[in-house]
Amino acid sequence: MKNIYSNILKFNKNSLSKTLKYLRKNNIVGLPTETVYGLAGNAYSKKSVKKIYALKKRPKINPLIVHYYNLKNLSDDIEINKDFLILYKKLCPGPITFVMRKKKSSKICSLVTAKLNTVAVRFPSNKKTRSVLKKLNFPLAIPSANRSTGISPVKALDVAEEFKNKIKIIVDGGNSKIGIESTVVDLTKKKISILRPGIISARKISKILK
Ligand code: AMP
Ligand code: MG
Repeated sequence: MKNIYSNILKFNKNSLSKTLKYLRKNNIVGLPTETVYGLAGNAYSKKSVKKIYALKKRPKINPLIVHYYNLKNLSDDIEINKDFLILYKKLCPGPITFVMRKKKSSKICSLVTAKLNTVAVRFPSNKKTRSVLKKLNFPLAIPSANRSTGISPVKALDVAEEFKNKIKIIVDGGNSKIGIESTVVDLTKKKISILRPGIISARKISKILK
C-alpha cells in the first residue's frame, strides 16, 4: 500500500538522528517493538510524559512501562533483585516486563508510575528501537501507540491512522513480530505473580526460577 503519511520514516542514519533530536527535545515519536508499536517519550521528563497521556487520552492512574537499552543505567532508578537478574539473563531483550521497586533517588517522572513506588521495566528486542535507546542518556516511557481502550497497532500505518499529524515521526519497522503486549510480571512481593499474560508464559517463568 502506498504510504500517504509523510510522518512515517524509513529507518536510516538520517531518520535515527532526527528521532534522537526529537526525543531529546521531549517530543513524542512512534517506535516499533517486537510486541506492538509504541508512543515513546523521555521517562525522566514530565513534559514528555504529559504529552503521552494526552495523546492516548489515558487515565493518569494507569502507569507506563519504562524501556531501557540494557542493565547499565537501570540501578540508578530501580532496586534490582536476584529473580530479576536470572530472568533478565534468560529472556532479555524480549517481550517481558518486570515490576520492581523504584529507588528514592530515581529520576523517573512520578507521572510515569502514577505515583506508585514501583516501576514496570522492559528491554525491547527490536533492533531499530534498540539503536535509539542505545544513543540516549535517559530511558523511554513507551505505552502502546493507540488511544486508551483502542486496538494495539502492529504496523507504522496503524499509528499514523490513529494519530494523524499529531505525531511528527513514526519509525517504520515493518510488522511487529509478536503482535500482542508483553507479559507483565510482578517481582515486588514474596510470591511472583503475572499481572498481564503475554507470549512468555507463567510456566516458563517458574521453570527458569526453579
Ligand atoms: P501498556 O502501556 O498499554 O503497554 O500497558 C502497560 C501495563 O503495565 C498496564 O497494564 C499497567 O497497569 C502495567 N504497569 C505499568 N507500571 C506498573 C506498575 N508500577 N505496577 C504494576 N503494573 C504496572
Ligand atoms: Mg495498551
